[in-house]
Amino acid sequence: MKKIYFIGIFSLCFLFFSCEQNNTPQNSTPGVVNQPIKSSTKVKPPENLVKALKAVEPFFQLMSKPKPDEWLANFKEDGQTFEQYINSSPILPTADRKILYIQPLGKFDQNQMKIIEMTAEYMRVFFNLPVKPLKEKALAKQLSLKNHRVDKFSKITQIRTRFILDEVLQPELPADAAALIAFTNEDLYPEDDVRYVFGQVNIETRVGVWSLFRLQKFADFEQFLTRTLKIAVHEIGHLFSIKHCTKYECVMSGTNHLAETYKRPIDACPECMAKICWMTGYEPQKRYEHLAEFSKKSGLKKESDEFTRKKIAVNNN
Ligand SMILES: [Zn+2]
Ligand SMILES: [Zn+2]
Repeated sequence: MKKIYFIGIFSLCFLFFSCEQNNTPQNSTPGVVNQPIKSSTKVKPPENLVKALKAVEPFFQLMSKPKPDEWLANFKEDGQTFEQYINSSPILPTADRKILYIQPLGKFDQNQMKIIEMTAEYMRVFFNLPVKPLKEKALAKQLSLKNHRVDKFSKITQIRTRFILDEVLQPELPADAAALIAFTNEDLYPEDDVRYVFGQVNIETRVGVWSLFRLQKFADFEQFLTRTLKIAVHEIGHLFSIKHCTKYECVMSGTNHLAETYKRPIDACPECMAKICWMTGYEPQKRYEHLAEFSKKSGLKKESDEFTRKKIAVNNN
């Protein structure tokens, strides 16, 4: 059977996370109540989520007309509403399989470890799922000629993503994993004819790998952090069958380069927020509260204020 891969070509999105401890939000129960829906069953969106969805619409911009080098000018996509998602038999975390494992591959400096730690926490509060780091693993020893190359332009050694996904991660997938995500400092490529990727996930085997290599270039700490947060949750969203968003400027929208990633918010739009909350039984106001706390702690003042206002809007609705 053909495997389903989502890749971040050129500068697409994708990447992220890991490291330290679980910090599961209090007052909410991680993990998940919904089971995949059979295709013959038409599910009506829960009323509380529809109300929350409406309440936060004013915080998001409808998708603007793409510039020629942007994602939607190059890829025809239909998008996916909340209702379409819950009727699509999505892959969901379950009570027995809800942990997002993080596998650091290689060595990271202090700054990178901080980014990884913060991204792990963002993943937890964004999806309401426990995140567990695994022990660092070296990658270099496992390299052979067929799974790495030297980029002829940059002269940088790059690693083939499929090698990491299929040979390093897939055999190690823990039984209780919703997904196993590796991140690395190495530059990645998916196929011989593609220059590089930020990362790649395999939806069927629930593994993904992302590189910090290009995300930290020409970026101060906040830019490095927000790029990483966006790519992390975008890719995890794909692992749970969330398609690219075309309705709003959304963290789940496809991006063709970092400039396009930059203009997107770190949050999911109303439709995608409802998918995430439905997926784990997450209350929208709790989600916004946790995201506001995370952003405040992380020095993201604008985002923190906005998450707080979204929480108020949901509460008042
Ligand atoms: Zn994507
Ligand atoms: Zn969206």
